[in-house]
Amino acid sequence: MQAALTPHAVSLAGMNRNVLRKMDQRGPRYTSYPTADRFSERFAVKDYLHAVSDRRGMGAWRALSLYLHIPFCDTICYYCACNKIVTKNRAKAALYLSYLKREIAMQAALFSGMNHVEQLHFGGGTPTYLSDSQMGDLMAHIRAHFTLAPDEAGEYSIEIDPRTVSVERVYSLRAQGFNRLSLGVQDFDEDVQRAVNRVQPEEQTLDIIAAGRTAGFRSISIDLIYGLPKQNVMSMARTLGKVIDAGPDRIAVYNYAHMPHLFKSQRQIKDEDLPGAEAKLDMLSLCIRQLTAAGYVYIGMDHFAKPTDDLAVAQRQGRLHRNFQGYSTHSETDLVACGVSAISAVGGSYSQNEKTLDEYYARLESATLPIARGIQLSMDDVLRRLIIQRLMCNFELSLTSLEIAYPIVFREYFADEMERLRLLEQDGLISIEDEWITVESKGRMLIRNICMVFDRYLNQDLTQARLAGMEATPQRYSQTV
Ligand code: SF4
Repeated sequence: MQAALTPHAVSLAGMNRNVLRKMDQRGPRYTSYPTADRFSERFAVKDYLHAVSDRRGMGAWRALSLYLHIPFCDTICYYCACNKIVTKNRAKAALYLSYLKREIAMQAALFSGMNHVEQLHFGGGTPTYLSDSQMGDLMAHIRAHFTLAPDEAGEYSIEIDPRTVSVERVYSLRAQGFNRLSLGVQDFDEDVQRAVNRVQPEEQTLDIIAAGRTAGFRSISIDLIYGLPKQNVMSMARTLGKVIDAGPDRIAVYNYAHMPHLFKSQRQIKDEDLPGAEAKLDMLSLCIRQLTAAGYVYIGMDHFAKPTDDLAVAQRQGRLHRNFQGYSTHSETDLVACGVSAISAVGGSYSQNEKTLDEYYARLESATLPIARGIQLSMDDVLRRLIIQRLMCNFELSLTSLEIAYPIVFREYFADEMERLRLLEQDGLISIEDEWITVESKGRMLIRNICMVFDRYLNQDLTQARLAGMEATPQRYSQTV
């Protein structure tokens, strides 16, 4: 069980900057383990069918989590690293919907008799790129194929771009069954907005938040980013002040990952406009201080929530979970994801759909699920996934409970990892006792670095790279600080 952190407990001011610099490496965000870059094309539809039939064979009744990916956006935000398609041609969305509905029907047939849904999330792209009537049609299709838990028991969320919705649309989304809103804001500062090609007037965002409240949404969350061009500590403080005044239930503050070698639109961002590493640390420090001082609980990594929000309650009760949408309160669910590039997690498997529209459509035309790659987890993968989950969500690990659940002696099985953990202990990020590994308050921000110790694939890569005298840090990952 976790106690809420006080403002001072998570202040970066007390942290040795040398430690922070040492920890500022590239690394995964662990929305899954193994991470998606480890998926293989050897994993095929038949493997997914096995995972579903294992679930049926176990006779276990577990609720489902559904994810729907809507890849379209009106305009490009330069910082974006999402899988999206920027177009003003709305006919593309109509065609996409026809295929998405086919995939939903195929998945529903597979899960027939065990299709109870407790969590539904629309992500993108921009889900509100769909018109009101298209969204109503899609939700009716989902309800016709899956059994959705009643409003009070289910968590039905949608990411919205305040530039694409009106107050009336917010009411309509609530009537269509959504009860959680997630708003992309990033920064209220106009210079920053111009520099990233996302001009979003403050009043527009505040109006949508107010509409969300009066329409009866249970939870409203706001996404911010630190490390954007033209940002500095002063502008960040002003944005945070405005966000606190708006009072969302959850706030996510993401670290901008500048990787122009991977994401073309990021090449529009001028290097000289980007804040340096020290300024980014100051901004992160400020976010933690200002938000916790305003009463938000620091959940971990990049998430904050009001103490009364489900996320904070779930963390206090030790039942917080982490999946592709970030932190979640629904741990005992399999995730069925539909749409181009979407990733499902069923039983001990992950599977990802085709990444381009043409391939996605072609697979559905031939009446097969559009799965392109995936992975079947070994016992070692499942064990490490559990450890990473516990560390990211509970910030502590009971070695005894792992030894009871798995045929291992922890300190022998993870002998190499224990050596690396001792170094983190010397830096004050964790403490190691006979039966427990506990993440210290300073380590919470660097939880990715701590989890990286248990990533067998990453450590194999690093060892090979070092032996070959090459750059040791994989370029496809973002900086951890
Ligand atoms: S940040 Fe969101 S709205 Fe902007 S391009 Fe990316 S997916 Fe689209």
